[in-house]
Amino acid sequence: MSVLVVGSMAIDTVEFAGTGERREVVGGSATFASMAAGLYTDVRMVGVVGKDFPTATLDALKQRRVDTTGVQVAEGETFRWHGRYSPDLSSRESLATHLNVFEHFRPTLPESYRDSRVVLLGNIHPTLQAEVLDQAKSPQLVAADTMNFWIHGTPKELHALLPRVGLLIINEEEARDLSGQRSVVRVGRALQALGPRRIVVKQGEYGAWLFDGDEVFHAPAYPVEQVVDPTGAGDTFAGAMLGYLDAYGDFSPSAFRRAVVHGSALASLCVEHYGTDGVHGATRDRVGARVRAFARLVHAEHDE
Ligand code: AMP
Repeated sequence: MSVLVVGSMAIDTVEFAGTGERREVVGGSATFASMAAGLYTDVRMVGVVGKDFPTATLDALKQRRVDTTGVQVAEGETFRWHGRYSPDLSSRESLATHLNVFEHFRPTLPESYRDSRVVLLGNIHPTLQAEVLDQAKSPQLVAADTMNFWIHGTPKELHALLPRVGLLIINEEEARDLSGQRSVVRVGRALQALGPRRIVVKQGEYGAWLFDGDEVFHAPAYPVEQVVDPTGAGDTFAGAMLGYLDAYGDFSPSAFRRAVVHGSALASLCVEHYGTDGVHGATRDRVGARVRAFARLVHAEHDE
């Protein structure tokens, strides 16, 4: 089966306190998520790039089970994002977001994409997310991600989309913003009330929570010795999670829990390198080793 991924394909400039900046590196929510999901299953990618987007990245995606037929190459410049991280890398601000070719992008699904079983609506304008969903025939699982830019910029469109989403994957700060709540349990419940049955609240180095109906699950983040660049960790998490679910064709509550652990494992490989290098270099064996380490991380023998 396969996962349909739509999202941004970007050229990023990222500033780090102390270690300088990385200018014009490949990024974007769809790029990270597709590379991650492609480790598990066939991926169908939808997005837009300008003529300046490196063909080497498109080739790398194709080598990893990613069908790029749905990626449009438009006249103009690729979407550009410029961000700056705090010295401890725990937060970041967006200094500039240039939509460029995204401004006039209308996603069109190739006929061969329409029967996708799983759909991941990566972080882009919620109206574009909805347009992709309109063209998918009858996906079994629809997941979406979003961020502050859209929560504040296009709240009506985002609220209209959420009842059509089965799984919302969102970071904690943005989840608080969207829900108006502070405690993670209240945040999860309030977001479920907006539509999605399942909510994943990502807490960066502190792990992720899964709210699944009435059930709550928590997975820690894999203890990484040195985080180099957190960019794309969230998209990598989402891509791995959905790739795992699609590969095993199991959408049970326990499969969602295992998928969260896979998401955390691949995200930990992502943040150890700059840009897409970590996800690009990841293998199923390396992810598997981290998944096994997770089991040890949270397992405690009982004496009785
Ligand atoms: P993450 O760190 O998982 O939130 O993903 C970071 C990626 O999101 C970067 O590579 C950016 O190119 C991309 N990005 C940043 N802002 C936006 C936005 N407003 N819309 C779509 N993608 C964005």
